[in-house]
Amino acid sequence: MNESNPRKFKFRSALVETAPGKPEWRNNVVVTIHAGQIINVQPDVVDAVGTLVEGAAIPAMVNVHSHAFQRGFAGLSEFRTASNDSFWTWRNLMYEFVRELSPEDVFVIARQVYLEMVIAGYSWVGEFHYLHNDPAGKPYANRGEMAGAILRAADETKIGICLLPVLYQRSGFATEHVEEGQLRFALANDDYFGLLEICQKKTRNTPDALLGMAIHSLRAVGRNSIAAALEYRDAALPDCPIHIHAAEQTQELEDCLAATGKRSIEYLLSTFAVDPRWCLIHATHMNQSETENLAASGATVGLCPTTEANLGDGFFPAQEFLSHNGSISIGSDSHCSVDVRDEIRTLEYGQRLKTRNRSVLGTATESVGRRLYLACSTGGGKAIGVATGSIAIGFRADMIVINDQHPTIAGAAQDRLLDRLIFSNSGNPISKRMIGGQWIGDSELQSAWQKSSDEFFNLNRRFLGSR
Ligand SMILES: [Zn+2]
Repeated sequence: MNESNPRKFKFRSALVETAPGKPEWRNNVVVTIHAGQIINVQPDVVDAVGTLVEGAAIPAMVNVHSHAFQRGFAGLSEFRTASNDSFWTWRNLMYEFVRELSPEDVFVIARQVYLEMVIAGYSWVGEFHYLHNDPAGKPYANRGEMAGAILRAADETKIGICLLPVLYQRSGFATEHVEEGQLRFALANDDYFGLLEICQKKTRNTPDALLGMAIHSLRAVGRNSIAAALEYRDAALPDCPIHIHAAEQTQELEDCLAATGKRSIEYLLSTFAVDPRWCLIHATHMNQSETENLAASGATVGLCPTTEANLGDGFFPAQEFLSHNGSISIGSDSHCSVDVRDEIRTLEYGQRLKTRNRSVLGTATESVGRRLYLACSTGGGKAIGVATGSIAIGFRADMIVINDQHPTIAGAAQDRLLDRLIFSNSGNPISKRMIGGQWIGDSELQSAWQKSSDEFFNLNRRFLGSR
C-alpha cells in the first residue's frame, strides 16, 4: 500500500453501507480509498469523478477455514475403502498423503489454492495451519519453516491471510499421545508458543497478514493445555482471533460426552470464556440450548458446507442459529470446492433437503442469496478480526465487481443479483477484484495462474504416480 494520495472510483452500482448494519444497493457510488482503506462512500454522484467502474460492486468474501495442503488431495478419496466409509477413513487417506510433503510442496499447493480463492472472489483466508513438523515428526531447524511457506504463498497471490497456527497434542479424549500419522502436527505447549513468536515476527508490519491462534479440537487438546493457550493469548496476543474445530462428527460428540459428561459445544461454552473473538468451525451437532447459547456468546461459526457434505458430517441447525442472531461465515476447508457460491448454495440446499421446504434461510424481507452472502461476508471479517466484508467507511477496500451483463446475472435487478449469482451458476461473472485497495488485473492473474498450475501439475504427477 504505497499510494500517497486518496484514489476515487465511481461504481455504476454498489452494495454499500451508508449507515452501520444497513447494506443497500445504490447507483453512481464514489468510493474513496487511501492506504488500502475505504475513507469515504458517496452514492448518487452525478458528476464525472474518479475512475468509472462498470458492473456491480459487492464486498469480497472471507474464507475463514482452509487447510491449504489438503487441496493436493481433493478428489482423491472418492472410492470405498470400507463397508461404511466415513470422515475417519478419509482422514487415514489424508494422513498417507501428508506423510512426505516438503515445505516447498506445501508452498506450491498453497499458492495454487490461494490463487483459486482470489479468482473465486475471496479476499482473505483463515489458514488453520497444523502441518508443523518434518516427515519424522521432528521440528524443522527453523520451527517456522512450514508457516513461512504458507505466508509466502499468500504474499505471492496477494490474498490477505489470518495465519492460525494450531495446537495439536493427542489422538483422542482418552490419551495424551498422538498416533503415528499425526506426528507432523504435534507440538508441546512451549514449542507452540515459540512458533507463535516466530509467526508474530513474520506477520508484524504486514497489512495483508495477521496472526491468530487455533486449538485443533477438544479431542486433540486437553483442558489444561487449552487453558494455557488462552492465558498465553491474553498476555502475548490480546484480542487475536481463536479458532477451533467443534462438534463436526457425532463420534466426537459421544467421546466428549463420555470423557466430560457434556456435549462438545456445551462443554466448550461452560468451560472457557467463549466470546466474539472465537470462531467455532462446523458446530454441526448442537441441541437447542447449545444453539441458543452459542449464538448469545457472540462467537462466529465457520461453516464449510461443501466439505461437510463431502465428509458426511450432518446438517448445521442454520435456521435456529440465525433466528437467534448467530454469526456465520464460510470456509472451503478441504477444498473439494473453492467457490463462494458453491458454499452458500450447499448450505441452503442442505436445509431444504432436511426440511423439504424451499428458501429456508431467507426471511420475509431478505432473499436467501442476499441474506447469506452478507451474513457470511460480515461474519467472516469478524471471525478473523479484520474490518472487511462491507463496502463502508473504515473498512478495508476488499471488493469484487460482478459483470451484470454476464449470462448468469443478465436481467436481474440489484435486489436479485446475489440470488442470481448463487443460484444461477454458469461460469464466473466476476469482472474485477480488489484486495486491500489494489486491483488484481486479469493479465496478472493469468500469468500467475500459468506458473502456479504448471508447478502444481508437476507436483501432482510426482505424488500420484499410478494412483
Ligand atoms: Zn478443518
